Amino acid sequence: MQRQTSQRLAIEAAFRSASRPLAPQEILQTARGHVPSLNLATVYRTLKRMLADGVIQPVDLPGEPARYELQAAAGQHHHHFRCRRCDSVFDLQGCVAGLRRLLPEGFRMTGHDIVLYGSCAACSAQAGPEFNT
Ligand SMILES: [Zn+2]
Ligand SMILES: [Zn+2]
Repeated sequence: MQRQTSQRLAIEAAFRSASRPLAPQEILQTARGHVPSLNLATVYRTLKRMLADGVIQPVDLPGEPARYELQAAAGQHHHHFRCRRCDSVFDLQGCVAGLRRLLPEGFRMTGHDIVLYGSCAACSAQAGPEFNT
């Protein structure tokens, strides 16, 4: 029980320090610093329990393995950015106005999902200015 608790705390800490959606493999890499005995099976088991408890929620991007984010961070309507160079996913604040203008006559929109792709700040800096052209 004690071990389970410290594993879960380490995983929650990984989410908080990253403050972006994490894949199980990323969680393992970060949380292992606190709990060296952690393995991928334990991460999956703990995530499942955190999902059931409503602590985290899945972030599903088309054609991507599942990532997760803290429920508290997900509370507000937001979208995601996926870096094509390092495969990290980031939270975007806010939304796009005027989506309803895209709808054909007679259509009603009940929801939307927006994913932006590109390179994150770290990858853009690494690639140099020519990458942005
Ligand atoms: Zn990147
Ligand atoms: Zn939106």
